[in-house]
Amino acid sequence: MTERILNYMAAHPHEGPRLVVDLDVVRDNYRAFSKALPDTRVFYAVKANPEPKVLKLLADLGSCFDTASVVEIKLALDAGATPDRISFGNTIKKERDIAAARALGIDLYAVDCIEEVEKIARAAPGARVFARILCDGAGAEWPLSRKFGCVPEMAVDVLEHAHRLGLTAYGVSFHVGSQQRDPKMWNGALASAAMIFRTLAERGITLSMVNLGGGFPTRYLKKIPGVESYGTAIFNALRKHFGNRIPETIIEPGRGMVGNAGIIESEVVLISKKSNAADETRWVYLDIGKFGGLAETMDEAIRYPIKTPRDGAELAPCVLAGPTCDSADVMYEKDPYFLPVSLEIGDRVLIEATGAYTTTYSSCAFNGFPPLHTVCI
Ligand SMILES: *Cc1c(COP(=O)(O)O)cnc(C)c1O
Repeated sequence: MTERILNYMAAHPHEGPRLVVDLDVVRDNYRAFSKALPDTRVFYAVKANPEPKVLKLLADLGSCFDTASVVEIKLALDAGATPDRISFGNTIKKERDIAAARALGIDLYAVDCIEEVEKIARAAPGARVFARILCDGAGAEWPLSRKFGCVPEMAVDVLEHAHRLGLTAYGVSFHVGSQQRDPKMWNGALASAAMIFRTLAERGITLSMVNLGGGFPTRYLKKIPGVESYGTAIFNALRKHFGNRIPETIIEPGRGMVGNAGIIESEVVLISKKSNAADETRWVYLDIGKFGGLAETMDEAIRYPIKTPRDGAELAPCVLAGPTCDSADVMYEKDPYFLPVSLEIGDRVLIEATGAYTTTYSSCAFNGFPPLHTVCI
């Protein structure tokens, strides 16, 4: 699947860690989402990988974009998306950013409280808003619970308030948690969404849209269900809760769109032990770590597949760490990572499935290490 990336790396040597993204894989992923959820519009979550070439490819394929800031809105516009294909999906926005988005033509906004509705009514009068409901993130490897959304009963009030202030109460959104490996997790949230639709209909307000969020996984070490399983489970849940009056739907895949499209090339800087005890675990230090783009190893949540030139040799556990002078820059320690015993300083290692949530999480120059270099092929 990533032969193109390996060939590119061999032909173009580079000093220091880098991410190479295969745009063909992104194209395949977009098509797979469109096929698995044929009646659903795709709003790519820009934060997963905002590389202009990724955005341009997706804009050309017809994708819409979920953005979280004015800068992301401008990136999507620069990539060729028209404002009607862009949502401002962050529930936490400065009022002047709402006004700036409005001036750029954006008409679709996320809210999860009355206070945010009031900002939008002032800064973007008449706009469409959708209310985000809480999801506990069960089953997700990178849950997004608590910070975003309100309870479904409150979403009813939020949308009714929006309606009264002259906004268009457009729909409901949720996010079942990132790297969600259970396609059935959309069911509970869709039951709540249908309840909100019904309650507001009784009050004379007709909602139009359910935003099914992101959460679609990328293959790391553990197996994941195919995107078709998600399509089927979501469609069945929509039928169950909305009957034959299925609303307009959108999805906001981030990780599932770009995760498997990228590989990070890194180098072993040091292999050492902390004592001479026979059972002492090796420490393997790479030239990339938590601050260089592998932030999702926080709490050892995301475990990336790692390839070395010594694969096939006997494996032994090691603590895997990054190169910076911060003791938090350790990726896998509680659950040590198995790497070949013959691994050597200077070996080139490939960290797979790193197309999502890597470049944007890399620091600017912590300890003088530059941000993660990215190439799209
Ligand atoms: C981050 C985010 C997404 C993308 O989530 P993935 O799990 O990467 O698919 C989608 N929607 C919103 C509102 C987000 O914040």
